[in-house]
Amino acid sequence: MSIADNVKAVKDNIARAAIDAGVDPNGIRLVAATKQNSAERVREAIAAGIEICGENRVQELLEKDAQGAYAGAERHFIGHLQRNKVKNVVGLCDLIQSAGSQELIELISRRAAAIGKVQDILIEVNIGGEESKSGFLPEALDDAVGFAAASGGVKLLGLMAIPPQCDDPRRAAYYFDEMYKLFVDIGAKKYDNVSMEIMSMGMSGDYMTAIRSGSNMVRVGTAIFGARQY
Ligand SMILES: *Cc1c(COP(=O)(O)O)cnc(C)c1O
Repeated sequence: MSIADNVKAVKDNIARAAIDAGVDPNGIRLVAATKQNSAERVREAIAAGIEICGENRVQELLEKDAQGAYAGAERHFIGHLQRNKVKNVVGLCDLIQSAGSQELIELISRRAAAIGKVQDILIEVNIGGEESKSGFLPEALDDAVGFAAASGGVKLLGLMAIPPQCDDPRRAAYYFDEMYKLFVDIGAKKYDNVSMEIMSMGMSGDYMTAIRSGSNMVRVGTAIFGARQY
């Protein structure tokens, strides 16, 4: 299967899951998780209809960006962002999906203000409460949203989550459903300077499940590019 075949298959699956969920398939955005794929392969995916690329390492983002990998597509940052790399990502990325601590939101906001921009972000939620993962715990989410709302250099557009790895699809659906409830609750509170539009969850193994639970942005790597070589 070529990258183009895979992109088509993933889009077809997204459309099917959207129809199951009773939502417009065009409202679901597909982010190609491009880590460990060369600039050439990223360009191939864009030529096949990918409109958003997500990278999770700053160094790799900068290298591939310099090679023109993302021309014609949005760049999203989806990985753990170290504080000393904030300056490299703010302004370059259309969306930082992994704003997972108050300190990070503050640094992003300050950097954006310093370069005269407003940076779009998602707040990352550690929905499984896992020690190994970054992101706000669900009980800290209200404060985090309030903090982002009051930070002039950022515009909060939604939430992102990487739930615990689950082999049981019903268990995966449980976490996605919990996330979606948080997303709806926060949206209903109508914070100023916050626009709860994006619920980013679902990866190669579970994006259809995530869409059925209300995700409208999925981040898919392996199902587009094949298995990564580590
Ligand atoms: C790599 C990655 C993905 C995609 O993972 P696949 O299982 O390969 O689809 C999604 N989100 C994040 C944050 C990632 O780092």
